[in-house]
This record gives sequence, structure tokens and C-alpha cells, in this order.
Amino acid sequence: MSASTESRAVREHGQPEPASALLPLPAHARTVIVGSGFAGLGMAIRLKQQGQHDFVVLERAADIGGTWRDNTYPGCGCDVASQLYSYSFASNPDWSHSYAPQPEILDYLHDVADRYAVGAHLRFRAELLDACWDEDAALWRLRTARGELTAQVLVAAMGPLSDPAMPELPGLARFAGPAFHSARWDHSVDLRGKRVGVIGTGASAIQFVPQIAAQLSALTVFQRTAPWVLPRTNAPIPPARRRAYRRVPVLQRVARGLRYSGGELLVLGFSGRTALLRLLERQGRALLERQVRDPQLRAKLTPEFALGCKRILFSNTWYPTLADPKSDVVTSPLVEVTPTGVRTADGTLHTLDALIFGTGFHVTDMAVGARVRGRVGQRLDDVWRGSPQAYRGTTVAGFPNLFLLVGPNTGLGHTSIVYMIESQLRYVEGALRYLERTGAASLEVRPDLQDAYNAEVQRRMAGSVWTAGGCDSWYLDETGRNSTLWPDFTFRFRALVRRFDPAAYRVTYRRAEGVAESG
Ligand code: NAP
Repeated sequence: MSASTESRAVREHGQPEPASALLPLPAHARTVIVGSGFAGLGMAIRLKQQGQHDFVVLERAADIGGTWRDNTYPGCGCDVASQLYSYSFASNPDWSHSYAPQPEILDYLHDVADRYAVGAHLRFRAELLDACWDEDAALWRLRTARGELTAQVLVAAMGPLSDPAMPELPGLARFAGPAFHSARWDHSVDLRGKRVGVIGTGASAIQFVPQIAAQLSALTVFQRTAPWVLPRTNAPIPPARRRAYRRVPVLQRVARGLRYSGGELLVLGFSGRTALLRLLERQGRALLERQVRDPQLRAKLTPEFALGCKRILFSNTWYPTLADPKSDVVTSPLVEVTPTGVRTADGTLHTLDALIFGTGFHVTDMAVGARVRGRVGQRLDDVWRGSPQAYRGTTVAGFPNLFLLVGPNTGLGHTSIVYMIESQLRYVEGALRYLERTGAASLEVRPDLQDAYNAEVQRRMAGSVWTAGGCDSWYLDETGRNSTLWPDFTFRFRALVRRFDPAAYRVTYRRAEGVAESG
């Protein structure tokens, strides 16, 4: 049984595997990948495809899948078309719907992990606790939950949407009922007949709220900002079309290409040509008017920023759920949690039996920043100071042989992140090949080129809906800079990282007496 299959068995039986079932950590691996979501798994597969076997994947959980393992809330699925939500080298003709549900995506990831025999490289329950670059030895010294190891190259693929963010609400610990985050859904809680409060109205809440509403006695949604919601067009993919995709894979590639091109058109709107966005705003307003009759509720649910400034949401059931007589949309700010409910700034105590947080993730303050220390011992957090930056979203000056997947300014609001991940994989592969071919010990991006790159990214960002759209979003870091999104067509990013560019790097070579710099 492969490690991946083994872990699937664990998942299905809900039992953690005994420590003896875990593969041991090696003392050293040429490449250590941290995380086994789309990014980490993709890196592992590409290494295998290239005949590279000296690597391990550290995974903090007992299963692969990243966000698609952790988010199991009712109704969880992908709002990016399933045709785009797979690796280009492992298409899936079997997607059941035009937008795939979470269990299918997780199954897909297990399937590719098995297909490419990645299992032997996976190390579960091996959370990375600390990574420190040893300049003299030219390697990473890694401390994990399961012991220590060293690596020449560290690929951080921990994902920006992996650590749930909980608001610091006074009194939360005193709440008498169950309280959990949507990314850590507590399936043991029976919500039937309960008065449930949901905090947040983002992409997660909009999926789970309509799914749970029918069984509740009362639903209170605490909304800080009314999102833009557009109609959702999810349809089953007929078996005949799936068979056709399987028999003639080029058909699916064409479907994928069409989806991709359509999505890229949105970039024109996001980057300042607002006529397209106005068209979509009209669609959003029409949906709201059609589905919500009460003018007061409609006013509460009307967004007050330009569409696209925050992630666009898609649902046909969100507004009807909120318009239901047993639902209440509360816009007064949260003040405190009491043992029996939530008090808002208008003085109302909302009595609740359970509380669910759809409050998003630590994005610009992601875990990697505190755990990775560079050439002079500095942490990424110390260097970034709340505003992450990297060269081409991937490498950081002062941190040799570190590659970030889905790093700063590689996020998207309009198409599949898998496209960006695959683009980055190519770049990292190129760097690994360069190290191998030249015998170099390390590569460290030049700070001046990193700065110039980021200045250019921010120049393209200026005037876009993300910065000028009149909203506060998780795309913006604590300094107000958008350090999350890629502000252009995704094919332009792919072109930038198509080839590894050694001239942008300080290269060191190992000599008998230590490590020497060259260029
Ligand atoms: P999110 O988009 O960050 O939304 C968090 C929600 O919680 C927002 O409505 C936010 O209000 C609210 N909130 C946060 N802190 C609060 C506080 N202290 N008091 C009151 N309200 C608070 O999080 P998410 O919905 O989990 O989605 C995160 C990202 O995950 C998405 O943008 C998307 O990239 C990804 N995602 C994707 C899918 C998919 O289908 N592909 C599905 C789910 C999630 P404000 O708007 O006022 O900040």
C-alpha cells in the first residue's frame, strides 16, 4: 500500500495511524518540500517525472491535500471551473460538475499522488517548526515535529490559505456552545434545531450557510462588509462528454483552453477597464433585486465597493437563505461573546447555541514567515515586516536555495491557482537543474533585482480595482500594499518564470575549505 493510499485509509477510518506506520525521516535530502497540497504535490510529481528521487515532502497532517483536505464544511467546492482545476499533465476527464465539489478534488489529488508514486516521499505529521540556512555548510537545517534533517533546497509550499484566522473577540473562550472555524469544521456537532451564528460573508460562508440553514431553528449572519454575489452556473458534466474527454483527451484540452481564455478577459476589467466590471455589477444587482424583496435587507446586502476589489462570490442560494424569515443579517459590529451569545455594538445580545467562523486565513502573515531563517539568521517575517516580497513570487534575497510556491503576488482573483503553481514549478525545476549542472552550492537572488521586480508589480497594480476599488481585503497587507495578487494576465507571469535566470542570482560553489562566492 502506498503511503498516500495508506493515509487515505486513515482518513476513511478517522483513526490516526500509529507512529510505527510513518516512514522515517532521512538525515538529509537534496530537496525538502513543505506541504502536500496542489503546490507541494505538484513539485513532488515534477521531480519524479525528471528522474529526481532524492526528496521528501513534509506534511503536518496525516493526509495529503492541503486546503482540500482541511476544508470539509458542507457545500465546500471550487468556484474555479473544474476544467482548469487540475494539473495540465494530469487532466481529469471524470469531473462530475463544471465546478467540482471538495471530495472530488481531494480524490483527484490522491489519485495523482498514487499515479505518480509519490507516496514513498511523503512524511506525515512532520510539521516544519524551524528552517535555518547554514551558510558555511550551504544547506538548510530543518527542525520538524518528527526530528531534524538537512536539505540543499527548501521548497515552501505551505499555501497562503492554510492557517485559519479567528477574530480576537473578548469572551470567546466563555461561549457555552460549540464554536469552530469553517476550515476546521466540527462534524460531531449536530446543528439540527439550533440557533447558529455565522461570522463572515466570504467565499467559504457563502458556500456553507445555504447548506446548513434548512436544519437550523434560527440563523444569524454577522456581516461586516456586503460582498458582490453573482449567479452560479454549476451543471453536471454529462457522462457522454466525460467519455469523450477520456477517449479524445484533446477535446478536454480545448475545453480547458476556452475556459482559460474567458477567465483572462476579466483581467482587463480588474486592471482598470471598468466597463466589464460594471456589466458584472449589473448582474449582481439584478440577482439581489430578484432574490431579496425586503428593501431594508436589500440595502444591507448591497455592496459599497467596486466589484472585483474583493473576491467575487457565486451563489444562487445565498440571498434566498438570508431572505428566509428565520434568518437575520446583523451589520452592527461585534463587541463581545458571552456564554449565551454575541453582543453587538448596538447593545443587542444575540442568543446562540453554536458559533461558526467563516473569517478567512492568515494570508500576509503566513506561518512560513516566522519559521524560516536566512543567511544571517533573519526570519522572513523580520525582512518582510508585514509586507511580503519575493522575486517573481518565488525567491527572496538573503534566503539562498529557498523557493516559495504561491509566494507573494502570485495569488489570483479570476482563474485557477494551479496555473500559477505549474508556472512556478518550471522555474524551480530550472534552478534545480542549474545547481546540478554547474555543481553550485547555492543560489540567492540579488536584492536590487528583487526590488526592481516588486516596484514593477506595484506599478502594474496601481489603479487596479484591488487598490482603487474602495474596499479592505485580505489581498492587502498591514501596510496597505497588495502583496498577494498577480496584477496581470497569468500568461505574462508564466512567461516570466518560463526559464530560470541565473544572472539574477548570487551563486556560490563549494570548495574543499568551504563555500566560495562567484558572481
Ligand atoms: P475571507 O474571504 O477572508 O472572508 C472572511 C469573512 O469574515 C469576511 O466576510 C470578513 O469581513 C469576515 N471577518 C473577518 N474577520 C472578521 C471580524 N473580526 N469581524 C467580523 N467579520 C470578520 O475568508 P473565506 O471566506 O474563508 O475565503 C478565503 C479565501 O479562500 C477566498 O477568498 C478564496 O480565495 C478561498 N476560497 C475559495 C473557495 C473556492 O471555491 N475556490 C471557497 C472558499 C474559499 P470583511 O469582508 O469585512 O473583511
